[in-house]
Amino acid sequence: MRIILFGPPGVGKGTQAQRLAEKFNLVRLSTGDLLREEISLSSPVGRKVEQFLRKGHLVPDDIMLDIIENILLENKERDILFDGFPRNLNQAHSLERSLAQMQQEIDIAFEMHLDEDEIVKRLVNRRYCPRCERIYNLSTNPPKNDCVCDQDGAKLVTRDDDTAEVIKKRLKIYEDETRPLVSYYKSLNIYKQIDARGNQDEISDRISEIVNAYLNSKCTSN
Ligand code: AMP
Repeated sequence: MRIILFGPPGVGKGTQAQRLAEKFNLVRLSTGDLLREEISLSSPVGRKVEQFLRKGHLVPDDIMLDIIENILLENKERDILFDGFPRNLNQAHSLERSLAQMQQEIDIAFEMHLDEDEIVKRLVNRRYCPRCERIYNLSTNPPKNDCVCDQDGAKLVTRDDDTAEVIKKRLKIYEDETRPLVSYYKSLNIYKQIDARGNQDEISDRISEIVNAYLNSKCTSN
C-alpha cells in the first residue's frame, strides 16, 4: 500500500502520519524529518538545504527526487506512507514514474484541511522533540512536564521555521505549489479530504476509517 498525506503546515500532518504508520505498519517517509536530520548532521545535503528550510522555501526538486529514489529502492517490499512528499506537481509525476517502474501505484492521497486562523494558532504553539521527533502543542497536546518530551525527557524545541513571518510564507507556498495536487489526485480518483478539526483521536479515526474501507474493498475485489 502507498499512501500520501499532505496538507498545509501546522495542520497536524506529522502527528497523524506517526499514528497512521504505526496503526497500519507503514514505513513513514517524512521528507521534512529527513531534511532536518541531514541539517543536524551537517552532511553535504544538509548544508545544501539548510537555507531553504530556514526561509520556508521548498527544497529544489532534483535534491528531493534523489532522496526519494534511494528510499523507494530501500523499501521496495514495504508499505509506505509519504508524509510531506510530493509538494508540487513535478514531484507527484516523478513519484508516479518511479513507482510504476516497480509495478506500484498510489492507493490513497489524503489532504488534511483546516482554516488558516486555526493553522497559525497551532503553529505558534507547536514544539517538537529533537531526539524522537514527537510533536506537541502547548495548548491542545502539552507534554506532562514543562517543555520536556514525555518519551525521552529531551528538552522540547520550536522549529526554526515556525516564526510568524516564515509561517505566512509557507502557507503561500502551499497555496501556490501544493494545492494543485488536489485537482490532480481528484482526477486520478484517489483523493480524500480529511477534516483536521477536533482532537487527535477523532482525526485518526477519520483517516483509519477510510484506510480500512479501502483495504476491505480490495479484499472483496480479489
Ligand atoms: P515539513 O516538516 O513537512 O513541514 O517540511 C519542512 C520543510 O522541509 C519545508 O518547509 C521545506 O522547506 C522542506 N521540505 C519538506 N518536504 C519537501 C518536499 N517534498 N519538497 C521540497 N521541500 C520539502
